[in-house]
Amino acid sequence: MSSELPIEDVLGRGGILSRRLDGFRERPQQVEMAEAVLDALREEAHLVVEAPTGVGKSLAYLAPVLIGAVATGRKVVISTHTIALQAQLLEKDIPLLASCLPIEFTVTKALGRNNYLGLRRLGLAMERAPDLVADDPAVVALRRVHEWSEDAFEGRRQELDPPVRPEIWDQVQSETDNCLGHRCEQFKRCYYQAARRRLQTADVIVTNHALYCTDLMLRQQDMGILPEHPVLIIDEAHHLERVAQDHLGLSLSRRGMRHFLRRLLGGRGAQGLLKRLDGDAVDGAQTLARKVGEAGDRFFGDVDRWCASRPGSNGRYREPGLWDDVLSADLAALADRLEILADAQERDEVRVEVEAFARRSLAMCSMVRSLLAVDDPDLVYFVERDPVRRHVELAARPLDIAPILERDLFDKLGCVVSTSATLAAGRGENDLGYFARRHGCSGARQLVLGSPFDYQRLVEVHVPRHIPFPDEDGYDEAAADVVLRYIDKAGGGAFVLFTSYRALEASWRRLAGPINERGLMALRQGDTMDRATMLTRFREDGNGVLFGTESFWHGVDVPGSALRLVVITRLPFPVPTLPLNEARAERLRRGGEDPFPKFFLPEAVIRFRQGCGRLVRTEEDEGVILCLDRRVVERPYGKRFRATLADASWDTGVEDAAEDSSA
Ligand code: SF4
Repeated sequence: MSSELPIEDVLGRGGILSRRLDGFRERPQQVEMAEAVLDALREEAHLVVEAPTGVGKSLAYLAPVLIGAVATGRKVVISTHTIALQAQLLEKDIPLLASCLPIEFTVTKALGRNNYLGLRRLGLAMERAPDLVADDPAVVALRRVHEWSEDAFEGRRQELDPPVRPEIWDQVQSETDNCLGHRCEQFKRCYYQAARRRLQTADVIVTNHALYCTDLMLRQQDMGILPEHPVLIIDEAHHLERVAQDHLGLSLSRRGMRHFLRRLLGGRGAQGLLKRLDGDAVDGAQTLARKVGEAGDRFFGDVDRWCASRPGSNGRYREPGLWDDVLSADLAALADRLEILADAQERDEVRVEVEAFARRSLAMCSMVRSLLAVDDPDLVYFVERDPVRRHVELAARPLDIAPILERDLFDKLGCVVSTSATLAAGRGENDLGYFARRHGCSGARQLVLGSPFDYQRLVEVHVPRHIPFPDEDGYDEAAADVVLRYIDKAGGGAFVLFTSYRALEASWRRLAGPINERGLMALRQGDTMDRATMLTRFREDGNGVLFGTESFWHGVDVPGSALRLVVITRLPFPVPTLPLNEARAERLRRGGEDPFPKFFLPEAVIRFRQGCGRLVRTEEDEGVILCLDRRVVERPYGKRFRATLADASWDTGVEDAAEDSSA
């Protein structure tokens, strides 16, 4: 295959895809994006592209990637945030191009190691099974895994149907720190090693942001999972910062510590490694592990009480030694004892298991010390606590991932293309600059594509002016009244989007009853139903009303008439008291900058665009965006929000929703 195949010949009118797909329509924005990606590949440049819904961005990067990188022998990794997009790439878009482009290539998916069955560990778990009661559910489950392992397809956890409980999978999953590698008797049959070989030989690897960030960290220790790849495509790039912060920081939770101890001592379906061992050192190790458990309960109990005694606090802590370190010495002692125990094991496969626990105990020991020392100025330290779920966690997250990504990613790779439907913090020149600065790629080329949809015809934006501002008395009542009138007019088919769960609850209490009385289905995020099921029911019903926060502002796709009204209850400014937001504002102030235009406003504009973007997913969709926050019209910064929907038809003076709504 020559790299001369022009993009127009693939994606343009009369091109290869037009001959292949019924109803193909040439999309100039798609061709423009593909040309830009091809140029970046040829010239080894980084590129940031905002490609609105309807552009067909996945084909717009896949086609040039195949023409300009794979065909010339360059390995490509594509990272996404959602499983849905991965499935679309692997099951639809890539096979389509493979079937019609004259390029031979192989593609595989990179999953986290723990998704694969570890045959050696399954063998160990089965050795213990006869000691248990034959109809013990754990034994029944292990036998099922064993039967499946005889002819599993790729040995992935997801292939097990029905799935096994996490405690069972824990005992048989492949793990990094206890793999025997070439010394393992199962090496040739090993599912994980087979997956690694596929990664080495594949031309295109599809993975997710979480695995990519883990790999980024492991690469610093020469333990990377992914092979060398000069080209990276980051789709759904708006999620990267959050995922990177989660993976590049530190954390230790009460639940994590208990889980570690259960795997050592047994309980709740876990076999307990120490129960399977013999020798003098076993009793001592068990005693120490129990001691760690008691110390952990004391330690997290102290942290929990510290939080409980500060109602309204955001959990952030800045001083070292706030809690007595009653834990790290016991963890270190346990690690030492496990090392001795490991040395006493005759069998390689048992020794490696015990050594892994020794290393984990030591890693937790140093985690406790780091989290108490509070000595890294680039990290923000805080406690996360959920009293209902009895969750307590100490965490430290990098305040700024830009230097890390610049050093470990953008400076190392030849071409990184970051793309998403919404990345720009406004409408104007260099609006992708905000994203580029925060992700360490300020020198990247930037491209903002227009929407292929006729917003003027499809979207009306209504702003009622007679209701109070969101922080004023009477807002909740007046807003609920307007929402109900618009729901009546639209006959349902609405997303009502909130910026906090508390606000959602308050509105739900007012509106769920009246909505049900009208014979409409009301759904609320946070109920027992998971997000995917809730969306399926919403789509199928056609006239539902869904109350959502955070995760419903983006990444939710309801094409067609089931969604015809999107309610933005208030402008989605970041919560200033959240630890990372607070720290960002402080850093900007210290540098003499105003955090409002530099952080809060651009973040809110991006989130506002994402929320509004739920309404029109295809060129047949149409409806109303109801913005219940008058600041969008009456505050000077409101024009930044309005500019992002400048193509829609605005009514900024709705006084009486019942009369004026055309929803
Ligand atoms: S090679 Fe490693 S991961 Fe594979 S079965 Fe052996 S120990 Fe487990």
